[in-house]
Amino acid sequence: MDPRSAAHVLTQIAAHLELRGESSFKIRAYEQAARALTALGTVDLAALDVAGSLASTRGLGPATLSVVRDLIATGESRYLEQLRADSAPGLLALLRIPGLAAAKIHRLRAELGVESVDDLEAVARDGRLGKLKGFGPKTAEKILRGIEFHRTSGTRVLYHHGEATAAAFLAMVRAHPDILSAEVAGSVRRHTETIGDTDIVASCLGNPLAVATSFTRVGGVRTVEHGDTASPSITFPDGARLDLHCVTPSEFAVALWRATGSPSHVAEVASRLAARGFTVAGDSLREADDATVSVPDEAALYQRAGLSFIPPEMREAQGEIERAARGPMPDLLHSGHIRGALHCHSTWSDGKAGIAEMAEAARARGWRYIGITDHSQAAFYAGGLSRDQVLMQHDEIDALNDSARDGFRILKGVEADILADGSLDYDAALLDRFEYVVGSVHSRFAMDERTMTERVLRALDDPHLTILGHPTGRLLLTRNAYAIDMDAVLEKAGGTGVAVEINADPRRLDLDWRLIPTAKAHGITFEIGPDAHSTQGLDNMRIGVGIARKGGLACDEVLNARSADDVLAFARARHTGRRR
Ligand SMILES: [Zn+2]
Ligand SMILES: [Zn+2]
Repeated sequence: MDPRSAAHVLTQIAAHLELRGESSFKIRAYEQAARALTALGTVDLAALDVAGSLASTRGLGPATLSVVRDLIATGESRYLEQLRADSAPGLLALLRIPGLAAAKIHRLRAELGVESVDDLEAVARDGRLGKLKGFGPKTAEKILRGIEFHRTSGTRVLYHHGEATAAAFLAMVRAHPDILSAEVAGSVRRHTETIGDTDIVASCLGNPLAVATSFTRVGGVRTVEHGDTASPSITFPDGARLDLHCVTPSEFAVALWRATGSPSHVAEVASRLAARGFTVAGDSLREADDATVSVPDEAALYQRAGLSFIPPEMREAQGEIERAARGPMPDLLHSGHIRGALHCHSTWSDGKAGIAEMAEAARARGWRYIGITDHSQAAFYAGGLSRDQVLMQHDEIDALNDSARDGFRILKGVEADILADGSLDYDAALLDRFEYVVGSVHSRFAMDERTMTERVLRALDDPHLTILGHPTGRLLLTRNAYAIDMDAVLEKAGGTGVAVEINADPRRLDLDWRLIPTAKAHGITFEIGPDAHSTQGLDNMRIGVGIARKGGLACDEVLNARSADDVLAFARARHTGRRR
């Protein structure tokens, strides 16, 4: 029994207890124990218990320990099975509906008999939910939208969650004595914005089928599909699915390529191979006389197809194959190119860390500057700054910059609301005091497409605007982009010299990478904004870089891959250029 699977079971128990309206003290005990187990890494729990150190693990209490021991002994939890038996099967799915917490589900169940997503949809549609105290027609509408999202997104999770699960699975696979090497493939390797399951390709010593089978029999496995093959789909108790591909060392490169690209990418490259007399047969490549071709790595495979190497992130059949047929792919941006962050919040508005602390954290990440962009006054709900606060914040930044030892710079930015009429929050005199301005839509999302497009186009005309923040307002798995003509917006941003943000908050990843080629065609400069609300939030940058790579961006197309002086020159050129 590995800690990850055990943690899953404890998390499930906590969710069931939450649904039953049990005390928060009891629920927290299970959540805390799950975290404690996750922190143990990849140890064997049975061995840990024999050694006597399981019982003394901080965060495990008598009740949670007995669940873990049950798992070690039988691979299952009788307590979880009992909780499952006592509750309607559709109930847990309700927890995945955006905006519906356990307390609300508890009430809906008690007062309206709601036990599944279908029940919920029925009461939201027929008006009963809207009449319930504390809900109302607006909530009913929201819930209906949430249901729609739930149905279309299924069990998908945000990239950073999928990546963390994949890392845990990879550690488990690599720990197997008969595995020579293993890599994550699939959508995690392609860095898509949401993740459905984890694909891992493993090169095995001996018989791949035997190795694959041993993984289907570990404790904590819920269901197995294709269990009689070397590529089983293994589902764990929390619904996380591992598609494991066990192969011989000589098949590894072809298997990794097949498991990484989108189905259309793989099919298109396979047909190019076929045109040159090669056949992809399972995880090997054959010549016309059926002889196996040695494929030492993915680059060799692309070479056989007459293509230059295509980075994993780009393997989506969105034009990258034609590009690779013309010659070497561009050198893509990577995290080492990033020299600073330009979209960051501090305690002055709704951030959790002060400016000095954020600056220190940015310096610790190897960056040379940080731009502080707290909210403007219209964003009162997010602690937007009044005029006086802006002036005081600038004094603080000046003082910090004066005492900086190594040339690290703090830039005076702002995330100004784009108001309903398209003007930027604050008057021109105050906007002039900032070194650069990010403009974002934070309100009135329900406008029709024409009005919303005009609103943003007007903002792009304001010479104060340096960067258009999270341009479509989408929240992944929660809220669609607002209605807006992005072609018109990107064309105008290109024409006026406004940079467009790739917001790197894993809930946003906005601009959508699919629009990057269009934006590039309009000559747009991109900014990758962590939208950090804490020091850890700065690590969003890495996720944004992955999205930029999906869009095929190179270092010189990214504003915050330039020096602070160049960023300020960019902002000034925009400002004075429009005034001529
Ligand atoms: Zn924002
Ligand atoms: Zn922000």
